Amino acid sequence: MSNIDEEEQPAEPRKPFCPKCGSTDIRGSQSHRMLDFLLKSFSRRPYRCRSCRKRFYLRRPEVDPANDEE
Ligand SMILES: [Zn+2]
Repeated sequence: MSNIDEEEQPAEPRKPFCPKCGSTDIRGSQSHRMLDFLLKSFSRRPYRCRSCRKRFYLRRPEVDPANDEE
């Protein structure tokens, strides 16, 4: 718990990851969709995986991947 000098910690709880492929190479999506706006009201943020391009939502402040679409 006192060894936070690397960003390569596998059990990093705050590091968002893709629920599909598990990749952490994701980016926050600044979409303007109405759906995103609604989800934002529920403290969720849209993300997109740069590896498999899976689009998903994470709950803040907790990281909780949710598969809303499949
Ligand atoms: Zn992915």
